[in-house]
Amino acid sequence: MPEPSRPRLVLATRNAGKLRELRELLRGQVPGLDVDTQVVDAAAVGAPDVVESGVTFEENALLKAEQTARATGLLAVADDSGLAVDVLGGAPGIFSARWAGRHGDDAANLDLLLAQLADIPQERRGAAFVCAAALAHPDGGPAGYTERGELRGSLLTAPRGAGGFGYDPILVPEGLDRTCAELAPEEKNAISHRGIAFRALLPHLVEALQ
Ligand code: IMP
Repeated sequence: MPEPSRPRLVLATRNAGKLRELRELLRGQVPGLDVDTQVVDAAAVGAPDVVESGVTFEENALLKAEQTARATGLLAVADDSGLAVDVLGGAPGIFSARWAGRHGDDAANLDLLLAQLADIPQERRGAAFVCAAALAHPDGGPAGYTERGELRGSLLTAPRGAGGFGYDPILVPEGLDRTCAELAPEEKNAISHRGIAFRALLPHLVEALQ
């Protein structure tokens, strides 16, 4: 059995929330796997940032997983996500994190999108959060693998709620009357695009870690 503290799976992100979600998903699923020490993020194993040069969520997720697996010699998981707005033909899509020009400026991205949609009536403000999750083996392993999850809803005209991140304050999931920023983290994880994609990937991950 591998020594307990040696990392066995790397998540190609520097986002602590995503790592926490993946650890909870894997907890108790693989005999002998200590998720708190053996499932780590990119920074913990010195994995380099990956340029997101793909044009689909799947392509970017796979790029990140494959390059991280190669750089670390570990099994790697990555995700790529964004908001696809119906009336914008799926934009901002893969550009969601940099929609207003600067990577990761959530407030500016949200303001720009609200301004663009200002004249669109509520019944035509459909959108979906989309996530592709990818799994890649280090050198010599089987080809990479992706799964997709979506969370459909409609967009408000002004932000509501203090939780979450990104576009959470303007998306009300179908069947609910609260925005994603008004949901408890567990409530959001249970229905989220990322939760769906990670859960779909889980059997492949468990098999690869046996
Ligand atoms: P990334 O997958 O971490 O690169 O995230 C892409 C961008 O999509 C984020 O910066 C957010 O703007 C947006 N996004 C992805 N998932 C969510 C979510 O669950 N809530 C709100 N915004 C999200």
